Amino acid sequence: MQENDPLIFKYADILEEGGRSVELSPAPAVYADAFDQPDTVKSMHLEMEFSVGGDSILLEGKLRGEFTLNCSRCDDPVTRTFEDSFDEVYPDTVEYIDTRELIRETAALLVPMKVLCSEECKGRCLVCGINRNRQTCACTTGRTTAFDVLGSLKIADKDKPGKKKL
Ligand SMILES: [Zn+2]
Ligand SMILES: [Zn+2]
Repeated sequence: MQENDPLIFKYADILEEGGRSVELSPAPAVYADAFDQPDTVKSMHLEMEFSVGGDSILLEGKLRGEFTLNCSRCDDPVTRTFEDSFDEVYPDTVEYIDTRELIRETAALLVPMKVLCSEECKGRCLVCGINRNRQTCACTTGRTTAFDVLGSLKIADKDKPGKKKL
């Protein structure tokens, strides 16, 4: 067990002190592999409060992270801050309180599945791929006329006989 790791605490020490408050900023690199892209994490800030109970130590913590993500519509980079609280109880049978996995899990869950650069994000043109927030193009997608609907219905009908039978 690495006693030097700032996220590992000796149970007896905290017990002796009657609790402990910890505030630290873990290096983003430590959590890089919890995300699909290694440079997702910009910064992390961690606050932990240990309090001594009868035969256990209670940890209450808060983790705040700044992340660079990609907009789900236009794919532009978006920097956002998310925070969440967590808690855990450690029985007096443990010699060390190892919070590494707990912090890691909390960090990975901070980020939502989808982010938007703005609620009004226009996304990208499906035809030419330009970012419609910055440029306009002459492509005609997104404008559905009665004629377009009729056209796609005809194609669907024509496809039917060729489809694989179940
Ligand atoms: Zn966007
Ligand atoms: Zn276009």
